[in-house]
Amino acid sequence: MTEVRRIITRRVLSYKTSRPLTSRLSPTFSNGRERESYPPQSLLSLQPVDLRMEFRRRALSKPHRSLTPAGAFPAKSGSSTRVQASDALPLPIRHTNKLFSVLFMASMYYLMCRWREKIRTGAPLHTLTLSDIPAIVGFIASLVYLISFFGIAYVQSFVSSHYDEDDFLLSSDQPAPCPLTCSKKSPLAAESLFGDDEEIVSAVVAGKIPSYVLEAKLGDCRRAAGIRREAISRLTGRGMEGLPLDGFDYSSILGQCCEMPVGYVQLPVGIAGPLLLNGKEYFVPMATTEGCLVASTNRGCKAIALSDGAVCVILKDGMTRAPVVRFATAKRAAELKFFLEDPRNFETLEIVFNRSSRFAKLQGIKCSLAGKNLYMRFSCLTGDAMGMNMVSKGVQNVLDWLQNDFPDMDVISISGNFCSDKKPAAVNWIEGRGKSVVCEAIIKEETVRKVLKTTVPALVELNTLKNLAGSAVAGALGGFNAHASNIVTAIYIATGQDPAQNVESSHCITMMEAVNDNNDLHISVTMPSIEVGTVGGGTQLASQSACLNLLGVKGANSDSPGANSRLLATIVAGSVLAGELSLMSALAAGQLVKSHMKYNRSSKDISKALPPDS
Ligand code: ADP
Repeated sequence: MTEVRRIITRRVLSYKTSRPLTSRLSPTFSNGRERESYPPQSLLSLQPVDLRMEFRRRALSKPHRSLTPAGAFPAKSGSSTRVQASDALPLPIRHTNKLFSVLFMASMYYLMCRWREKIRTGAPLHTLTLSDIPAIVGFIASLVYLISFFGIAYVQSFVSSHYDEDDFLLSSDQPAPCPLTCSKKSPLAAESLFGDDEEIVSAVVAGKIPSYVLEAKLGDCRRAAGIRREAISRLTGRGMEGLPLDGFDYSSILGQCCEMPVGYVQLPVGIAGPLLLNGKEYFVPMATTEGCLVASTNRGCKAIALSDGAVCVILKDGMTRAPVVRFATAKRAAELKFFLEDPRNFETLEIVFNRSSRFAKLQGIKCSLAGKNLYMRFSCLTGDAMGMNMVSKGVQNVLDWLQNDFPDMDVISISGNFCSDKKPAAVNWIEGRGKSVVCEAIIKEETVRKVLKTTVPALVELNTLKNLAGSAVAGALGGFNAHASNIVTAIYIATGQDPAQNVESSHCITMMEAVNDNNDLHISVTMPSIEVGTVGGGTQLASQSACLNLLGVKGANSDSPGANSRLLATIVAGSVLAGELSLMSALAAGQLVKSHMKYNRSSKDISKALPPDS
């Protein structure tokens, strides 16, 4: 192991002094960009090559379309880059055109000089010297190129009144095809289909056009969604009248948030608050269809505010990813474990890992073995991003790098479930994932009585029997609470978090104790794995970013990267505290069923609602 360490240290020193580290990293992440556009590219790879070639051929055959400079397919929506004829050529179009034009002129000039010389010297015209042959070949090749490029396009512009199978995709009144690029505005009125669209719908229904290429082919995301929706309706024989189509910017989700859209689901957003947390007030947006949830959280917020507010502390911050690798023997797997966990190697590994982003900061690697299989749980800071992509890139860097010294290491998967993402797992409960947070408040006896309509002893007893003993009886994993996931999920949906991460983000132990001579209530929620971000994923979408803005945590925090996402985690915990307080009080007061019967089955004023069930 000492030898391995020495080799690696030597290599890292050479990194620092000679070649850039990026040259040794995986091809996927080695281009030095902060964020790879791999979702769009992976989408692009779904498109059949022949379809792409078809675009290019058509672009060639339509001289009235401007042939903009060649470039890669745009990764971000809203880009104006289009598919060009040059995409089908090994060089950009302007270069190939120049090359063949120069070749044509040069070879013609040479052949004419030779012709004049032969006439002057009286030599027979058909005799060729060695230097004449390449000139003739060059002349013919450039002539064929120039005729096929300009000539065919020119002729087609006059004679192509007939279109074949999908010519309608390029009719002049529609946007040029631009894979993974969509215009913001739709030329279509709601629900209406133009004549051309009718043909596309039929082609999709008949399976001639795959549904997933519509955005790329049409260059208009709203139109693509409308056509897809109509095709699905015809295929299933079922309408989607209740699912709205208009009023959503489909280009904002392209290659990023959702594929093959046909509309969007409407969810009401309620506001609970003000939540008085660490001396500041927050109005908390909650997207939910569960009656009483917002009202209940709101009541908890009121109780907290009347008791001088809650205090929240971030205990730990680190997103995790754990690949699984296999060796021929358990001994070799153990060797890598010892190497990774040796503090003397940390600096080296940190340099390799942190190349993934300027926000990525490796914090530690925890290893676990199952025979000859090794699971390495990398943990890192990810700034204001929730950070799954960032941490995955860092892990990939390290795996590529380790391969040099552990060539017998067989990488099975970048994720080996020891991470553990979106699954109940003790590792998150014990070690934490994302933000580990504790939040507390002391609720005055009077507030417990007047606002929560119960007593401190009743709450403490109920908490012990339900959240602690009851959950133990149930064999709970991180579920020592009344309904943390209710609040977590509602805030996650409103603010563009990944709602599937509510699994571990809702891990919570709620504690209650009588304090101040048994008069007041000390309540706390401890949540070890709140996974939130304020950049990336769904956070950039209009509605979600409006909710983040309401909380004052929209986007990246430029002064202190990570401050926005950490503040959001504290707001989640504070809101959970409010939710726990209110529901537990309702249960203690025996109001729950009454409350649900009253407000979940009627249209009465919800502001007077009692708390919901868990
Ligand atoms: P996620 O994994 O949560 O989807 P990513 O790691 O993919 O997030 O993306 C975050 C992107 O946002 C990165 O490209 C990063 O460079 C960029 N970014 C800009 N500002 C910040 C910030 N303050 N914190 C984190 N990432 C930031």
